[in-house]
Amino acid sequence: MKITRNSIDTTAGPSEWFTGAVFVDTVAAPSDGSRLSASSVHFTPRARTAWHTHPKGQTIWVTEGVGLCQCRGRSIEVIRPGDRVFFEPSEDHWHGAAPTRFMTHLAMLEVDDEGNPATWKEHVTDEEYGAAPALDGEGR
Ligand code: MN
Repeated sequence: MKITRNSIDTTAGPSEWFTGAVFVDTVAAPSDGSRLSASSVHFTPRARTAWHTHPKGQTIWVTEGVGLCQCRGRSIEVIRPGDRVFFEPSEDHWHGAAPTRFMTHLAMLEVDDEGNPATWKEHVTDEEYGAAPALDGEGR
């Protein structure tokens, strides 16, 4: 058993992987005995990941705010607290906050044999992000 007290600093999401201000708290880190990686990711309004894939897929679970997610070639979905999204292995996608809301999600995945959690691609453009449905209650 290993207890990690609330002593790990929140880190800023790197600009290569995110647009806008994003902050990450590590929940579980892979080790010799576990492939599990989990993070609580805090997106400020309009902030989002770049396009990316996960070798073993990923589950996100929204805990606060209002968010958006999209798989390549499909429409943007509005996601809210309690919503769970599974991205299939190698499915190209992004996730982030709605234009006028913060969003926090718990992100969970298994790293591959080499320890890789994700393959990162280009940023989501403002034009791509701007295709999100309006948050008028009809957005889901
Ligand atoms: Mn992802």
